[in-house]
Amino acid sequence: MTDAQGSLMSTYSRLPVTFVKGEGASLWDADGRQYLDAMSGIAVCSLGHARREVADAISEQAHTLMHTSNVFCIANQEALGQKLCALSGLERVFFANSGAEANEAAIKLARLYGHKKGIECPVIAVMEHSFHGRTLATLTATGNARIQAGFGPLLEGFVRLPYGDIEALAQLFAGNPDVVAVLVEPVQGEGGVHVLPQGYLEQARALCDTHDALLMLDEIQTGMCRTGRWFAFQHTGIRPDVMTLAKALGNGMPIGACLAAGKAADIFAPGNHGSTFGGNPLACRAGLAVVAVMEENNLAAQAELLGVYLQEQLRARLADVSGVRAVRGLGLMLGIELERDCAELVKQALVQGLLINVTAGNVVRLLPPLVISMAEADRIIATVSELVRRFLEEKNE
Ligand SMILES: *Cc1c(COP(=O)(O)O)cnc(C)c1O
Repeated sequence: MTDAQGSLMSTYSRLPVTFVKGEGASLWDADGRQYLDAMSGIAVCSLGHARREVADAISEQAHTLMHTSNVFCIANQEALGQKLCALSGLERVFFANSGAEANEAAIKLARLYGHKKGIECPVIAVMEHSFHGRTLATLTATGNARIQAGFGPLLEGFVRLPYGDIEALAQLFAGNPDVVAVLVEPVQGEGGVHVLPQGYLEQARALCDTHDALLMLDEIQTGMCRTGRWFAFQHTGIRPDVMTLAKALGNGMPIGACLAAGKAADIFAPGNHGSTFGGNPLACRAGLAVVAVMEENNLAAQAELLGVYLQEQLRARLADVSGVRAVRGLGLMLGIELERDCAELVKQALVQGLLINVTAGNVVRLLPPLVISMAEADRIIATVSELVRRFLEEKNE
C-alpha cells in the first residue's frame, strides 16, 4: 500500500488497479492497458464512460450555475422531476444525492404516513437478502447481518420477510395493524440477482391497498432502463406508491430521487425533510442529459434485447458445466450462481482485461453499460463462461 492509499479509511479492500480514462464500455489504467467494463461502477455508468452528451451538459452547467439552494426555485430540478414523473406515472419527486438518501426519504415518508393515520409505532416490511444502503436506517432495512454487525442498536419499526413470499406478507398484514409500508427491490442486486416471482408485485399491490399501506420499490439498481423497462415495475401492470432511484440516474454524477404517487404524494410538508445539495442545478442537469440519451436511443429496448441474448448465450455455454446452479436476471442485470464462493473470479477476470463483480459470495454479477456493442457482449460471454468453466473444473479436480 502506498502512503497515499493509507490515508483512506479502509472501508474497501480494493483491487490493485487505478483507471485514468474511460470511453464507452472501455477503461484504461495508468499503463495504457484497456479493460472491458461489465459492471458499470455497479450499475451507474449505464451510458458508458465519458458519454459526450452528459459531459457537455455538466460542463455547460458548471460554467453557468452549479448550486443555489432549495430555498429558491430550481428550473433543472423541476424539469427533471416532471420528466421522471412522466416516465414512471408517479406524481412527485424529492431529490437526494445517493441511493441510501433516497431510501431514507422513503422510510421517513412511510413513518410520517403512519403517524398521520394515528399509528404511533409504524412498521415497515423489508426482505431477507435485501440491500438498501449504509446509513443507519437503510442498513437496518438491509437484510444482511454482515452489513449490520457492530452498528447496533439498530432502528425499531422494521419486520423482515422472506423475499418473494406473498403468503408471509399476507400473514404479516393480517396480524399487525401497524404495518404502514412494504419496501422491496423488484430484482435484488447485492443479494445475488434474485428476481421477484411472477405475480408478487400485483399481489403485494392488492394487499397494500386493502391494508392502506404504501408499496415502496427500491429501484436504485433496477431503474433507468437497466432491466429492459424504464423502471422494473413496468414489467407488471401495477404502480407503486413510492419508488427510489439513484445509480444510473446521473451516469456518475451523484444524484438520488424518491418518487411518490397518490396517497403518498402529499405526505411531506415544508420542514419535514431536506437536503443542501439534493436536486441542485448541476446534478439535475446531468440527470436530464441521461434521460434524454436513454430516450433518444431507446435504451430500455436495447437492454431487453441484449439481456435476452447474454442470458441465452451464457446459459448455453454453461449448460454442461457442473457447479453452475443458475443463470438468471432481467435485462442487463445478470447473475450466474455457482455452487461455491467465487470472489477470486473478479481478479482472474481483471487479468483478462474484463471487469465483473461477485456478490452474495457465489454469484457472478454482470451489469454492463446499456450501450455495449454485440462484439463487446460476445467478449463478455466468451470470457466469463471460460473463466467460470475453468474455475469450477480446477476446484473439482
Ligand atoms: C446501491 C444501492 C443502494 C444504495 O445506494 P448508495 O448510493 O450506495 O447509497 C440502495 N439500494 C439498492 C437496491 C442499491 O443497489
